[in-house]
Amino acid sequence: MAVSSKKPDWKRVVVKLSGEALQGPQTHGLDEKTLDRIADDLVNAAELGVEIAVVVGGGNFFRGIQGADKGIERARADSIGMLATVMNALALEFAIEKRGWPARALSAVPMPSLCQPYSRQAALHQLGKGRIVILAGGTGNPFFTTDTGAALRGAELSCDAIMKATNVDGVYTADPKKEPTATRYERLTHDEAIAKNLAVMDTAAFALARENRIPIIVFSIAQPDAITAALAGEGKSTLVVP
Ligand code: UDP
Repeated sequence: MAVSSKKPDWKRVVVKLSGEALQGPQTHGLDEKTLDRIADDLVNAAELGVEIAVVVGGGNFFRGIQGADKGIERARADSIGMLATVMNALALEFAIEKRGWPARALSAVPMPSLCQPYSRQAALHQLGKGRIVILAGGTGNPFFTTDTGAALRGAELSCDAIMKATNVDGVYTADPKKEPTATRYERLTHDEAIAKNLAVMDTAAFALARENRIPIIVFSIAQPDAITAALAGEGKSTLVVP
């Protein structure tokens, strides 16, 4: 595995991993190979000495907004969505531990028989021990997304950056799937992203990151070693800075 030997600038990061990133080629659920590849990548990144918190989404199982569209009251549908993130967190925790690296899932929705409840202190303690911390349950509240969970944890855990893993290798001038002439930004400020109306993360998440002056790196999780490469400043990405 080609792991960069370059030292990353960031000491502590929060990685936002959508549920979709874990479904691989499937239409939903968890893909074993994809989970293993991402676990490898996270372990390689942790071996560089970076403290890593991962906020996992749940869209590969359930999104509250879709449940609401089908008539489930929104707050309840979001509860189902938050439960979906716990499934992903437990699967990722196991995939990382299988590689001999310690991982701890912490849930913002307390379910102590499955994993530790999230608290800032518990997360900082686990990060300090070098464990990869997997944050389930988003913010723990309905009407939010795990993007916002990532920005919130990024701020409260004093992370140097939010690493937003997507299926596109950065932020483009227009949707590159619809507009073939669209070009990727290498670097942007938070203010430029707003002025140009570019969707980097959802609005609440972006506002939190901007207010707390947290850089956001947007990169594609499709490649092996994507997280490690992004940390080392290699590969394609867009860096959003204050
Ligand atoms: N969710 C929530 N509060 C949060 C985070 C997530 O209610 O703070 C619910 C919401 O229903 C959301 C679902 O969990 O649709 C899964 O999260 P998200 O859509 O962010 O997952 P992703 O799209 O990243 O896979």
